Amino acid sequence: MPPKGLFEGKRAAIFGVANDRSIAWGIAQALIAGGCTDLAFTFAGEVFERRVRPLAESVNAALVLPCDVSDDSQVSEAFDRIREAWDGLDILVHSIAFARREDLEGRFVDTSRDGFLQAMDVSAYSLVLLARHAESLLAARNGSIVTLSYFGSEKVVPNYNVMGVAKAALEASVRYLASDLGPRGIRVNAISAGPIKTLAAAGVKGLRGMLGAVEERSPLRRGVSQDEVGRAASFLLSEYGAGVTGEILHVDAGYNIMGM
Ligand code: NAD
Repeated sequence: MPPKGLFEGKRAAIFGVANDRSIAWGIAQALIAGGCTDLAFTFAGEVFERRVRPLAESVNAALVLPCDVSDDSQVSEAFDRIREAWDGLDILVHSIAFARREDLEGRFVDTSRDGFLQAMDVSAYSLVLLARHAESLLAARNGSIVTLSYFGSEKVVPNYNVMGVAKAALEASVRYLASDLGPRGIRVNAISAGPIKTLAAAGVKGLRGMLGAVEERSPLRRGVSQDEVGRAASFLLSEYGAGVTGEILHVDAGYNIMGM
């Protein structure tokens, strides 16, 4: 876990906790271990609110806000509330993705226009939207953004389909945002995480095969944990990552380097 004090006095807004298995919750745990006490969490819809609120309260979060990223007014209102509470933001975690279940199996060529646009909107455009709303808050504190991607953006992974295309757009967005926001001292990076059993991952057909392939073929011969992704995010989000922006950091037990 990160050294105590690394995140002391830092303010973090975390988008994408669904439950205690969420990668965003792993990142929150790492920030808390590093001494972060000013936390804001968001949820998308009432069902998620019932799960997120008790988790947020268990760590004395300052703010728990509704924020469905496909709704501009909810995003605006969430940032209004953050701005009322805080004069700046050190950390923004974007750990959000969605594609329809029918688009996460079978042939990519069958993806509908609606399904394609929805996956792109929620999983890629939302990073741009959050970055724009957070820009002045982050600039006030040399803040940093981290988002979550997956190897399906680079190579074909069966069933990942439209989400692979959305992750490719997300990773390109990281580079363009890093270029736009860098002059204001804001860093933007992504972690390309290996497969982890979460709610979102369960929506991809054949998850078990993906987990098995990583255990069999990655250099470390095992998968990665939510906790390991949290620790890598701590590096990118802290002073240790001060010289790093526009980067896609693989936290996948080395799986991506293998050719055969
Ligand atoms: P998760 O289900 O715990 O988190 C996904 C989050 O997206 C949920 O909190 C959900 O509420 C949120 N979300 C979906 N639609 C939304 C909307 N319209 N508005 C706001 N929030 C919305 O699963 P996770 O695995 O922790 O996923 C987090 C991120 O990590 C995603 O971007 C995912 O693609 C990425 N990722 C996951 C894995 C994995 O194997 N679990 C691997 C690499 C990358």
